[in-house]
Amino acid sequence: MEAHMSTTPNRRILVSGASIAGPALAYWLHRYGFEVTVVEKAAGVRAGGYPIDIRGTAVEVVRRMGVLPALQAAHVDTRRITFLHQDGSPITSLRPTATSGGGTAGDLEVRRGDLTEVLYGTVRDDVEFRFNDSISTLEQHPGHVDVTFRNGDQRTFDLVVGADGLHSHTRALAFGPEEQFHHYLGHCFAGFTLPNDLGLSHEAVLWNAPGRTAALYAIGAQETVHGFLSFHRPDPPFEAFRDPRAQRDLVTSLFPHQDWQVPAMVAALQKADDLFFDVVSQIRMPHWSSGRVALVGDAASAPSFLTGQGTSLSLVGAYMLAGELATNPDPQQALKAYEQNTRGYVDANQALVTAGESTMHPRTEETLARRNQMLTSLAELPEEAGNPAHSALVLPNFDLR
Ligand SMILES: Cc1cc2nc3c(=O)[nH]c(=O)nc-3n(C[C@H](O)[C@H](O)[C@H](O)COP(=O)(O)OP(=O)(O)OC[C@H]3O[C@@H](n4cnc5c(N)ncnc54)[C@H](O)[C@@H]3O)c2cc1C
Repeated sequence: MEAHMSTTPNRRILVSGASIAGPALAYWLHRYGFEVTVVEKAAGVRAGGYPIDIRGTAVEVVRRMGVLPALQAAHVDTRRITFLHQDGSPITSLRPTATSGGGTAGDLEVRRGDLTEVLYGTVRDDVEFRFNDSISTLEQHPGHVDVTFRNGDQRTFDLVVGADGLHSHTRALAFGPEEQFHHYLGHCFAGFTLPNDLGLSHEAVLWNAPGRTAALYAIGAQETVHGFLSFHRPDPPFEAFRDPRAQRDLVTSLFPHQDWQVPAMVAALQKADDLFFDVVSQIRMPHWSSGRVALVGDAASAPSFLTGQGTSLSLVGAYMLAGELATNPDPQQALKAYEQNTRGYVDANQALVTAGESTMHPRTEETLARRNQMLTSLAELPEEAGNPAHSALVLPNFDLR
């Protein structure tokens, strides 16, 4: 591989974003001999966070990175999901695999921050990380990209990759406004932490009213739990996005219910110092690169958390992009191959969204009643096999090409 790389002139690569796709891409690019710089707007990699899934093909990516044992040790092992009627009485408790369609041997659930820490640990000493910084301008030339950073530095790279999430700034700079690619799925959500007053442990509890979901998610048996309040809304509330006060007021007004823990959750939301508010949306783009700027992870193809596949798409996308760059000396050919060979897997996973929505977020009395009926019968079903979309790509072995 080293011999192969020495014939490649396109060695200097800038990656924007150090969450999941960014550090995974940096790892593979470094392994293939590229010079990598990662720029991240936050002050460091962020620990903790909500649980995410690594499934199917993505498990093979982390195995090839040598981090499978570390991630198995960090597995959060959610043992049950309890669904509640609107009055707070239980409908059923299920093993989580029965509703997610996952559960094939080896799928993992870890805290997002734990995955980031593990991925970052594979490259932190080998590639340049610029925290507290971001790309201000990108100027594309036939053979390189001139970049100005927010801190004023100017540098030249052979390629720039946006791994900066659903609202990617790199995408806006190279492809234009997000609206062109943003497919709103009719829900918004607020996430925050609150005291674990119910003493929940290794479990999630979901309460639904038509078009409303309140969920508590306990990782282990800790003093705090993750709270989520999500709601159906035909149009995204753009006016709330720049205003945390408006976000709190909007969510509060939509959850007047006096049932279960909803009032306590609304009170906690009002005080939370870690409130995260966003739309539930997908990013769908006709192409994932423009000249010498490419996208990976949520920036290219966010599937939304309704699929539970965002993390896996980020890991697999990073593996495929780095591998194609390593084995195609012409970056344009490499970017084309990355897209051709990854698109089917991404499309299959984005298409999962309908199923996810009806189970976790029924919008009407009728769909909620049907969902509850379905859950009752599910409790008696044997565990489902893994969804074929999760494994819809067989990873090439780029090291051997
Ligand atoms: C509440 C919630 C629950 C979820 N549950 C699941 C789940 O169960 N399973 C699952 O697989 N996925 C889940 N997801 C989705 C998953 O978190 C994302 O798909 C995944 O994090 C995408 O990784 P990424 O690296 O592409 O982008 P992100 O994780 O969004 O990271 C982007 C990074 O870029 C940085 N950044 C942003 N802008 C700039 C800039 N201008 N300059 C420099 N850096 C920048 C950010 O600080 C961040 O570090 C969930 C998401 C949320 C919000």
